[in-house]
Amino acid sequence: MSVKITDICIACGACIDECPVEAIVDDDDNPNDDGCYFVHSEKCVECVGHNDEPACASACPTEGCIVWDGIVASQPHRDDIGDDKRSAHSPVVE
Ligand code: SF4
Ligand code: SF4
Repeated sequence: MSVKITDICIACGACIDECPVEAIVDDDDNPNDDGCYFVHSEKCVECVGHNDEPACASACPTEGCIVWDGIVASQPHRDDIGDDKRSAHSPVVE
């Protein structure tokens, strides 16, 4: 994974156009079909090289909705985010 959208997502759409690599899909295209938006982890670069912090989480109005998840080895990721935050699924914006 990378960052992850959790089930408190209200499908407002504020995040999707903020993603520089088009890693986010809406609820219609969510493979889990759970009514939430979804981050394709194999595309997410955690905004490394694009923004100071994940733009999706900065744009999201739902507190704690977007969380850290495990890294995808082939993808850029934020070295300053430790395994503790990733395994605990800590909110990106606290
Ligand atoms: S962290 Fe950045 S690259 Fe990853 S889904 Fe969010 S906006 Fe896209
Ligand atoms: S901005 Fe937050 S609440 Fe809105 S669709 Fe994206 S993840 Fe869901």
